[in-house]
Amino acid sequence: MIDEQQIRKIVESVVESVTASGGARPAGISATVSKPAVTPSTLPPVSPSAGIRGDNGVFDRMEDAIAAAKRAFEEFKRFSIRDREHLISILRMVITDHAEDFSRRVVEETGMGDFKDKIIKHKNCGKNSPGTEDLVSRSWSGEKGVCFEEFAPYGVIGSITPSTHPTPTMINNIIIMLAGGNTVVFNAHPAAKNVTAYGLQVCHRAVVAGGFPENLFTAVKNPTIETANIMFNHPDVKLLSITGGPGVVKSAMASGKKVIAAGPGNPPVLIDETADLDRAAECIVQGASFDNNLLCIAEKEVFVVDSVFDKFMMAMERANAYRIDELHLNLLAEKAFLPSEKGGHVLNRELVGQSAEHLADLIKVNVPDGTRILFAETTKNHIFVVEEQMMPVIPVVRVRDYKEGLRFSLEAERGYAHTAIIHSKDMDRITEFALTMNTTIVVANGYSTQGDGPDSGEAYMGFTIATPTGEGITSPRSFCKVRRLAVAGSLRFV
Ligand code: NAD
Repeated sequence: MIDEQQIRKIVESVVESVTASGGARPAGISATVSKPAVTPSTLPPVSPSAGIRGDNGVFDRMEDAIAAAKRAFEEFKRFSIRDREHLISILRMVITDHAEDFSRRVVEETGMGDFKDKIIKHKNCGKNSPGTEDLVSRSWSGEKGVCFEEFAPYGVIGSITPSTHPTPTMINNIIIMLAGGNTVVFNAHPAAKNVTAYGLQVCHRAVVAGGFPENLFTAVKNPTIETANIMFNHPDVKLLSITGGPGVVKSAMASGKKVIAAGPGNPPVLIDETADLDRAAECIVQGASFDNNLLCIAEKEVFVVDSVFDKFMMAMERANAYRIDELHLNLLAEKAFLPSEKGGHVLNRELVGQSAEHLADLIKVNVPDGTRILFAETTKNHIFVVEEQMMPVIPVVRVRDYKEGLRFSLEAERGYAHTAIIHSKDMDRITEFALTMNTTIVVANGYSTQGDGPDSGEAYMGFTIATPTGEGITSPRSFCKVRRLAVAGSLRFV
């Protein structure tokens, strides 16, 4: 729970920016926000239990979280687009101010990832999540009349968030879903339920203090598969947004509702003989080591053409990656994938998102302090190539030529349609690679987070990359219905 001092700090900063006179008001604030900003002293106290009324957006029962978000949706209709932008500016401020706080709690609760990288992710979410500017309406006019098309909200959206990026995904979802006028209810990953509830409450207090209705975003206190199923099948939840692995995407799709699904990935990297090998190695170390390889877009396996293979392996060492032999790679694989009761194997969650140094310790390899990534030569059927390992160990496979590398990359991506990366100076090959891989994101001559992240030029970023359902890196328009008004025979005024 949040202590009184923290609440006061958040709210004071929000109230200050909201109510300061003249130019101190953040851009986009409309004078039509119908409720006045409250002062810290009028905030309700934190109650010990969520209950039927909820505790700053957090509810004991999923049904109550949905009912509250539905009521809030009706109230939210009174607010203008400029008000929504004002709300978003509050959320941007909260996640930026709390980047360290949220990151620390995520690492403590989930035990995964890298604290410093998580701070970057949170700040990036605050800065680069798209807002209402994404909702550009269209119109046409002619002698037969005028047509307008606008983006309309669905209503209450049900959202599943992953353990790998719980708070940034939640706040990115809140921003892009509320930008379109929706409200949202979360069933967070059980392994991140406390930080999700905490983050949601911090945001809730700030937006309520900014004059907005309660429960524009809600969550169930103890999320489970049962509460997810209530959400999937509830008549008041109009759209599902699913960010997670294959199991949850499949069960959401069985609900019969419209689903925006951000499923798993297994991004391959293809390096041909024309590539800048030092640059390729540096990019792989940068992308694959970020947050200990938790990102779904992160480099997971590398295919290198034979003629430059040995030079590439040396370039990886120069880029401070640590080379292990195949024996040690296999030892690590035995620890990273455990036999499954149903036959086959399952990913050992205890190794997901651990540091390269920790992984090296497990297989009794001494690595220099600060080693961010392990790598090894292996073959294309190795489990680290085939499966999404989500830990900083990268299998590297020797391929005869570019064509074979392309074929193996396609196989390794497994039809997830997620992300693929190529290093080549041959534009025709880059084009063929993008066409053949048919993934949502293709990065050429860069690292994965240049496809969606702080380094992707001026592009917006998103934490819900809708792969199987095709919306791509989701933005406010992904969560809106398109509605048309046609005025026959009039309103053309030129
Ligand atoms: P996960 O699949 O373990 O869990 C996701 C959520 O689904 C959790 O809330 C979990 O409790 C719930 N869940 C799991 N099975 C369910 C079922 N049958 N019915 C209802 N709910 C169910 O995912 P995770 O480990 O938190 O996240 C990692 C996975 O998510 C990776 O595969 C990664 O690639 C993917 N991911 C994708 C994106 C994207 O944008 N495409 C973003 C982040 C993560």
